[in-house]
Amino acid sequence: MTPMMAQYRALKKEAGDALLFYRMGDFFELFFEDARVAAACLDIALTRRGKEKGEEVPMCGVPVHAAENYLARLIRAGHRVAIAEQVETPAEAKKRGGSKALVERAIIRMVTPGTLTEENLLESRAANWLAAIGRAGEEWAIAAADISTGRFELVACGPGDLAAELARLDPAEVIAKEKVPGMDAVPTGEGFDSVAGEKALKLRFGVRTLDGFGAPGRAELCAAGGLLAYLGATQKGADTFLAPPRRIERSAHMAIDPATRESLEITSSQSGGLKGSLLECVDRCVTAGGRRMLAQDLSAPLTDRAAIAARLAMVQHFADDQLRRDDVRRLLKAMPDIARALGRLVAGRGGPRDLGQLRDGLREARALSARLAEDADLPELLASLLPRLTGHDALIDELERALVPSPPVEAAKGGYIAEGYDPELDGLRDAASGGKKAIAMLETRYRKATGINALKIRHNNVLGYHIEVPSRHAEALMAEDSGFTHRQTMASAVRFNSPDLHEEATRLTDAAGQALEREARHLDALTRRVVERAAALADSADAAHRIDVAAGHAARAVEGGWTLPALVEDPCLEIEGGRHPVVEAAVEATGERFIANDLEMGPNDRLWLITGPNMGGKSTFLRQAAIIALLAQAGSYVPAASARIGLVDRLFSRVGAADNLARGRSTFMVEMVETAAILSQASRNSLVILDEIGRGTSTYDGLAIAWAVVEAMHDDIKARTLFATHYHELTRLADRLDALSLHHVRAREYKGELVLLHEVADGPADRSYGIAVAKLAGLAPKVLSRARAVLEKLEEGREASGGIAAGLDALPLFAAMPVAAEEPEKGDPLAKALSDIDPDALSPREALDALYRLKQLA
Ligand code: ADP
Repeated sequence: MTPMMAQYRALKKEAGDALLFYRMGDFFELFFEDARVAAACLDIALTRRGKEKGEEVPMCGVPVHAAENYLARLIRAGHRVAIAEQVETPAEAKKRGGSKALVERAIIRMVTPGTLTEENLLESRAANWLAAIGRAGEEWAIAAADISTGRFELVACGPGDLAAELARLDPAEVIAKEKVPGMDAVPTGEGFDSVAGEKALKLRFGVRTLDGFGAPGRAELCAAGGLLAYLGATQKGADTFLAPPRRIERSAHMAIDPATRESLEITSSQSGGLKGSLLECVDRCVTAGGRRMLAQDLSAPLTDRAAIAARLAMVQHFADDQLRRDDVRRLLKAMPDIARALGRLVAGRGGPRDLGQLRDGLREARALSARLAEDADLPELLASLLPRLTGHDALIDELERALVPSPPVEAAKGGYIAEGYDPELDGLRDAASGGKKAIAMLETRYRKATGINALKIRHNNVLGYHIEVPSRHAEALMAEDSGFTHRQTMASAVRFNSPDLHEEATRLTDAAGQALEREARHLDALTRRVVERAAALADSADAAHRIDVAAGHAARAVEGGWTLPALVEDPCLEIEGGRHPVVEAAVEATGERFIANDLEMGPNDRLWLITGPNMGGKSTFLRQAAIIALLAQAGSYVPAASARIGLVDRLFSRVGAADNLARGRSTFMVEMVETAAILSQASRNSLVILDEIGRGTSTYDGLAIAWAVVEAMHDDIKARTLFATHYHELTRLADRLDALSLHHVRAREYKGELVLLHEVADGPADRSYGIAVAKLAGLAPKVLSRARAVLEKLEEGREASGGIAAGLDALPLFAAMPVAAEEPEKGDPLAKALSDIDPDALSPREALDALYRLKQLA
């Protein structure tokens, strides 16, 4: 193995399963399997470099100056990348170890999806969470950090809530101590331990007790420990932006499990993108930070009535006054993404432009505060946000004086510090530009003195400044007493130096170099000033984003004729003229009209059973109820003429397997698992939407399951439930379940054509219209008439026998078994022995022994 390969191997070992970017001159090179993976992912040429053990070594590389783009693609494809830089110059290496010495390299950073700060690598609309899953006994917790904006959250949750909480955060990367069943968390091992976590938190935030952070529990400490250890390991000692942790009370948010999020298409549509999602439909924010906050709000609607009311009052403030709304949104629109600029500055990856953005953003925030303060009767929340927008005058002033109007991204070429900020820098710049003038004058002087008009003074990186004349004039300058020294002969020109030129050139490069250095020192100092105030600055950004979200909601409400919802404690859901905003937009885009519908549920009418033809609008009606509740609790107006909503603690939405078929899941099983989850978690304050549950199996099974689920929802759980079904037989339940009512989506046959009215009316549907729908779908006339004939026979048969639900009249009333009844009776030794066994704790051998013991008891 060559010394270089030995070094490579050692670094690769450190990088683990991350791709290793190995710096060689102007390139980052990848070798072996890394090279194959990266070449395929990036679509770049795979080459070879030498051999190892007789085998050619695959290699590919990306130029350093363009590395960020390639990194972005690798990260998006789910890879992690370790960057190994040269940590000494070749000259230093020679001095240290002779002419053959290898330049020392080290991994300076691990680039992973959850630890990004670069603008090009991040999605501006979404938070970029790194989530660490911790556990202490039966308690689980998530510690989540977005180091691009400094947010840091701790959430304690039971094992059942873990998936819902992760879904709320939608993290870019999840880590855990070890593999978590059913989750793609990367096992990292390090630091997941409550004692280490406590220590790390105290150290990081310089506190002696964690009481100020709400005394996090052991699982939270464990998660935080893993998170901080991972940040340390990936950032290799560079600072990261983290505000003190906020403990998130699980019950402060409406619980929405992953299946429900998917089904309601909250932040991304079923096709996977933002397009077609509720978020896209609602979003009228004008800042990137506002968009991120809105996405989080919709992912985590509140459950505290006062907090929701506070948000809504602010929306109303902007909805009621167009001039005010327009003013505020115009000011916000001019505000750069200061939260992310701050993240880069704290991470030591910021540049002059980030400082410029901060200056501009803080200036806008101040103007925003001044504009808002002009109005009387500020809603309480808004009044509390105003002071958070200001207080940075000294910093703004400093940045205004220090920076040019639009500073460059990179610091390397200088030119970002404004004239007049530092007299010494101005002096150096004058000297540099004076030097340039002096050199130009020298050129004129030499031309005159030599009589060679073609004489030029030029600059290149090898010779620096030099005098160039065409070859035919060179002779005169070659003379020993000419005052010129020969440097280089080219094909058509000869190059010289002169003492005067040398002197001017040295003065110039010295001055320019010193100026650059001084600029860099100012950049450092300004960055330090910003970093010292990072928490307060992030707070201002947050306040501005909160206002953006409210003004955006107001704009959306005005645009769509939405209304201020009333939130109440009793479990009702009363919606007049409700609409599904996403379907409405799609329907209107085709030139049709969307039909608004009413819904009125209360403690005595809490289960709506909805029948009617396919395509009649059942799913739409169900989902709009859920979306209206969700929007209201997120602090938005709602697409309805009026809405009165009893706070929802958990929201469930399930779609029958048949509708999910396209996504290729083991459908019936999934459906049943998800239904089981609802039955075990829903409370009387929940809102449950069940769309064609029981469809993924045979008619009898399906009807039986649907029947039992409706009964359980009604008698036992008592949640507000909307149940759409094509099992007409279920309508018989209305006779025995008091709080259940029947509804249908209206349809009419007009001159042999089916007309779907999309109107929800009371009572059961008169018929199923299945054949009419089939006709609408273009089934051949011959098949249709045959189907009609078959249907007629079937219906005759049903009339004679009473149909598939014939036996149900004799069914005893549903009685939910109290849980206690299922516990083994005392005194039954077999049951006792069985319940004493903890299968998770047994080895196969022990399990077998246990089985023998049980056999003996039987
Ligand atoms: P179902 O669940 O009864 O099969 P959907 O709710 O999926 O029906 O609705 C089918 C289509 O009907 C929708 O894609 C939409 O184009 C249209 N639609 C649904 N509800 C309405 C409505 N209230 N007004 C107008 N068109 C509607």
